[in-house]
Amino acid sequence: MADNGFRELPVISAGPVAHGPTAGVPIIGIDLGTTNSLVAIVEADAAGTRVPRIIPARDGGNLVPSVVHFNADGQAEVGAAARRERVRDAAHTVYSVKRLLGRGIDDLKDIRHHLPFNLEESSASNVKLQVGARSYTPIEISAMILRELKASAEAYLGKPVEDAVITVPAYFNDSQRQATRSAGSLAGLNVLRILNEPTAASLAYGLQRKKNGLIAVYDLGGGTFDVSVLRLRDGVFEVLATNGDTQLGGDDIDHAIADWIESTIRSTYPQADYSGRDAKAALLDAAEKLKIELSEVATAAANVPLLPSSRQFDGGTRDFLATLTRAQLEKLSAPLLERTRKPVENALRDAGIALSELTDVVLVGGPTRLPMIRQFVEGLFGRVPNSSMHPDEVVAAGAAIQADILAGNNREFLLLDVVPLSLGIETFGGAMSKLVPRNTTVPTMAKEQFTTYVDGQTKVAINVFQGERELVKDNRKLAEFVLGGIPPLPAGVARVEVTFLVDADGILNVAAKELYSEAEASIEVKPTYGLTDAEVEGMLADGLSHAEDDKRAAQVVQARNDAQTTTTATEKALAEARHLLDETEAGVIDRLLASLKAKMVTHDAEAIRAANKALNDGTARLAELLMDHTLQKNVKNARASDMSR
Ligand code: AMP
Repeated sequence: MADNGFRELPVISAGPVAHGPTAGVPIIGIDLGTTNSLVAIVEADAAGTRVPRIIPARDGGNLVPSVVHFNADGQAEVGAAARRERVRDAAHTVYSVKRLLGRGIDDLKDIRHHLPFNLEESSASNVKLQVGARSYTPIEISAMILRELKASAEAYLGKPVEDAVITVPAYFNDSQRQATRSAGSLAGLNVLRILNEPTAASLAYGLQRKKNGLIAVYDLGGGTFDVSVLRLRDGVFEVLATNGDTQLGGDDIDHAIADWIESTIRSTYPQADYSGRDAKAALLDAAEKLKIELSEVATAAANVPLLPSSRQFDGGTRDFLATLTRAQLEKLSAPLLERTRKPVENALRDAGIALSELTDVVLVGGPTRLPMIRQFVEGLFGRVPNSSMHPDEVVAAGAAIQADILAGNNREFLLLDVVPLSLGIETFGGAMSKLVPRNTTVPTMAKEQFTTYVDGQTKVAINVFQGERELVKDNRKLAEFVLGGIPPLPAGVARVEVTFLVDADGILNVAAKELYSEAEASIEVKPTYGLTDAEVEGMLADGLSHAEDDKRAAQVVQARNDAQTTTTATEKALAEARHLLDETEAGVIDRLLASLKAKMVTHDAEAIRAANKALNDGTARLAELLMDHTLQKNVKNARASDMSR
């Protein structure tokens, strides 16, 4: 590989690369949701104003349920028809697949028991879902949903569609973003941009609103909660901070209601067994119906089938009528809503914004139609949330607006996102050297120079990490590669320039180059995916709670590194110039050296620094003698070479 600049070096996230938009061909915006997906496009209205429009699904509604059902022949159907099969044929119906996208089996430990299908490992960042006799990856299932949306758009527009913008939750990591892109490619789409959902929503609102402001986007979807703080300045959006909980959404409210229904039934029919797959799906279906109805009315009722084995309990009655009030729902979901409080506080803190400075709060996601959620958000922010647009459609509308910008039809707006976790590399002693701090606006590039630690070192390992802790062992490894071909130089002379490039989609490229050598550098990149969303949040929380410990650990690493430099230099100097010292002087230095080495194995940064200073002070005369000696040697050599001419 040629050492000819960082752009040509291999990227960490190898994945399908989009080509630019095709002139004159419509670009669609897609909200690929956990529960529902939508496709939208910006069109000129009667007055010539460009406005986003949700494209109707082929079966009529605006939302395409993100559900895939496989019939007896293995044929897939997607959307509302598939959703109806969730109860009738749960074994062959797949939903909430977005929760699995770009994630390995280990990442899914916590939610596995909620899923009514079996998972098997496919790779470190991919699982396979068993559906009947076949198995599918989440990418394949997502591609089926995207294909359906593409077909809806083509039917509506009456022409082929290829280019698309697809939205993802703000906390999606590299692997999940790549998996989304791959699903797009598999569906025959050229994915021009992966856009964060809260950013899309604020873009949709920003178009009709004031030019300046500070906006919080509260996005409670089917499976994820995201909060973002954005600055709108002169019509330009900048994401100041994002936070969230990727395991919290309307689905969790459904689970809470389903558990409540089950325990209600079992209080009358203690033998009723809802542990089976179909039974669970039936409970969840009734639960969601109750929840959605309660956004309109104060009391809702839904029929829950008593299982065949349970019918006998009620003289042949097939259904149980579950009745739920808003007050009961409020009680069931209060702990879930409460879990959104901390992420909101954290996002505001990270953005450096006081609650009172916010000019707008925007609601996104189906569950935010529930009056109790609006009230909760109002209490949380101390202001009435802004929900003039349809909370289910606002993300797709924003994606369509981004598509319109990419198509060159709207030059008014610019989008800036941020990296959710700091990015850096491992340096000597296991320290994390951060190149891109978290919440840096993307696209961004950071360059830093590093050097070798050992004389004659011809290779350096570049280990790339993500996280907030001071030691890499507490952060998450993203990738590693080796830069070879460095000429053997004394320690500290080689200059290795490491470049981090985060593109507009939040995808990272890392490159390393040795600046002095003309030799070709060879680089090997081994991606090690698998960071889970929950871990991202855990790492943020961890970074905060360990800040003090980390500072101490980092000080120890730094003190040891400094001490190592001094001991190496002293040993080298002694080897060359011990004969210039008298016995007492040499003895003092030996003792100081031994004392520092003994301190270096402890965790006492203060003691290491003190011993290091003592050795530095104690070797001042040795350094002087060595310098004179070297000078005299050089002068002698110069004379000798003069004489030989
Ligand atoms: P989204 O990800 O925005 O499509 O939101 C999907 C979630 O919104 C699911 O949990 C739905 O059950 C929920 N949802 C949709 N409509 C409503 C409604 N009117 N009231 C309460 N929740 C709703």
